[in-house]
Amino acid sequence: MNNETTAPVVVIGLGLMGRAVAGAFLKAGHPTTVWNRTPSKADQLVAAGARLAPTVGDALEAGSLTIVCVTDYRAVHGLLDASGVELDGAVLINLTSGDSAQARETAQWSERRGARYLDGAIMAVPPVIGTAEALILHSGPESDFEAHKSTLGALGTVTYLGADHGLAALYDVAGLAMMWSVLNAWLQGTALLRTAGVDAATYAPFAQQIAAEVARWLPGYAEQIDSGSFPAEVSALETDARAMAHLIEESEAVGVNAELPKLFKAMADRSIAAGHGGEQYPVLIEEFARPADD
Ligand code: NAP
Repeated sequence: MNNETTAPVVVIGLGLMGRAVAGAFLKAGHPTTVWNRTPSKADQLVAAGARLAPTVGDALEAGSLTIVCVTDYRAVHGLLDASGVELDGAVLINLTSGDSAQARETAQWSERRGARYLDGAIMAVPPVIGTAEALILHSGPESDFEAHKSTLGALGTVTYLGADHGLAALYDVAGLAMMWSVLNAWLQGTALLRTAGVDAATYAPFAQQIAAEVARWLPGYAEQIDSGSFPAEVSALETDARAMAHLIEESEAVGVNAELPKLFKAMADRSIAAGHGGEQYPVLIEEFARPADD
């Protein structure tokens, strides 16, 4: 177990995010060794007390905990597979964005090389790294997360998701789906209202209120999904589908784009055709759970 606040750390990759990560460790007092393909990106960190390692292999020898944060998994493998890189005994935390299959495959690959491996996803932008606002998700063996949780805490709010190494990547894209869906819905409404001279700033607080109200429905709807039972307690899917048709008609009538409402109306129509029109909205999970062309 290594729970000391001053545990030495290694940061491989000093792009915008890697520099923020290394900077947060330094600020929290961790002896920090860094490496980057373009060494000049380490200049400010070195001035702030970091040690610049000449090679990845040399960097890895410097600390018990190594954070990797580069563009993609291809780069991760390129760096860690190079000759002179000894992974045996290392603890790797890969904060590089990727998909769940890449995370699971990299975990197996690391374990074969004798390294302990946690996969991570950063749900934040570089300026907030080192503050509670920075949410950083981890998946892999819980004992490894617990052993390094306090060190990782220098980066923000660190969360453990489960033993499956793919979970951090899956939560990452699930969060992105939520983010873009909310933003796209807001843009649809903004486009509609602008045709009547209502500007985006006027609509934004109303949209915020609706989004917050809908968010409150999620736990109850999740219970329906988990139990596989969708009684129409509030409204039936066919009622929602009629409102979707109205949204499409209004969009077309005032000359704004109707592709987004048509997309979700098509999913609702398929579900109704399959006999679910009298059930509640979350029954659409069955449409989301399979590819469109099945
Ligand atoms: P970035 O500024 O473009 O930096 C990319 C880093 O990867 C640089 O250190 C670069 O080295 C290194 N790299 C790329 N290909 C390499 C290779 N073949 N060999 C060695 N090093 C290589 O990107 P970033 O914003 O730091 O993002 C890093 C990771 O964090 C990405 O997976 C990204 O999705 C994730 N992330 C970023 C943000 C964000 O807001 N920036 C938010 C969440 C997650 P050089 O300096 O030598 O080019």
